[in-house]
Amino acid sequence: MTRIEIITADITHLNVDAIVNAANRSLLGGGGVDGAIHRSAGHELLKACQLLGGCNTGDAKITPGFRLPSKFIIHTVGPVWQGGRYHEKGLLASCYQQSLRLATENGIKTIAFPNISTGVYGFPKREAASIAIESVQSYLKTHPEIERVIFCCFDDENFEIYNKLNYSTISIERVQSEKEVQLVADLAYTIWNEHYVQIIGQDQVNYMVTNFQSAEAMSKQIQTEGYEYYIIRHLSEPSGYISTKLTGDELFLSKFYVIKEKRGTGIGKEGLKFICERARTLGANSIKLTVNKYNTNSIKAYEKMGFINFGSVVADIGEGYVMDDFVMKLDL
Ligand code: ADP
Repeated sequence: MTRIEIITADITHLNVDAIVNAANRSLLGGGGVDGAIHRSAGHELLKACQLLGGCNTGDAKITPGFRLPSKFIIHTVGPVWQGGRYHEKGLLASCYQQSLRLATENGIKTIAFPNISTGVYGFPKREAASIAIESVQSYLKTHPEIERVIFCCFDDENFEIYNKLNYSTISIERVQSEKEVQLVADLAYTIWNEHYVQIIGQDQVNYMVTNFQSAEAMSKQIQTEGYEYYIIRHLSEPSGYISTKLTGDELFLSKFYVIKEKRGTGIGKEGLKFICERARTLGANSIKLTVNKYNTNSIKAYEKMGFINFGSVVADIGEGYVMDDFVMKLDL
């Protein structure tokens, strides 16, 4: 599941472990979100902040949440936008990094950020959002202890920018070179071990990965069996893959996999859109897939995408292994 959520709300209302305040260097309150937080948290917050001795731009400090529903407030000081030549981007990234570092140190699992620096401080909203998403994504990769990060937007424009960015960070490209085939093989290894061991057992996973999803096996499918492979990247990182084969007027969706940490980033939706477009381009009028009967999560996900159950199939894949699958279909 995704650990990033984008919402519009008043951040002072959120029931999370910590909210982040876009403060100024004095930490003694101000306008915008800072003012709202001080008003809601009460006078004790000001007293606590007076003991902190201010805060440098790009750094962060922590206080209790006092009268807020959130347990903590992390105060960070965003850069004032001065045209981009004064390390504003690095300083903004640092606000997110330092806030998350404090979250980890204080056992905070859920945290909400406002759109730091995009109010009075004048940071261009799109650039700020992209820095925010990238900094948080990169931190989350090595910090499983943070369960949820909320980007709490206050205006519709920011909300739209964040949502669009979260999606446009996905790219899907046809696998061409040997290097890309190897990348997909590595992804296949990760995904099959993450996901299928519980369903079909380690032995069969090893068998599948070696015989059907090794770089060699996939090259053969591409060169001689009419398969197309696509690599899905999220924020430039290899995150999943798609494999299809056209048979008559039906596109067989052989593989559509996403690594665990990238689920819920919008890849499912974008991937399906891509597959439908590809199917139409090739003149197909339906998409068919097979899915293991015990793979309930994937079945549910396909149902949500509009696929319907179309029967079942048991296939002998050699060495005593069988695939016990449902057939699912989506009409275009
Ligand atoms: P900065 O000085 O860092 O630009 P501002 O408080 O002026 O800080 O603005 C930061 C962002 O916080 C802006 O996008 C603004 O719309 C938003 N904001 C203002 N009040 C709230 C609130 N109560 N909850 C969430 N976000 C808010």
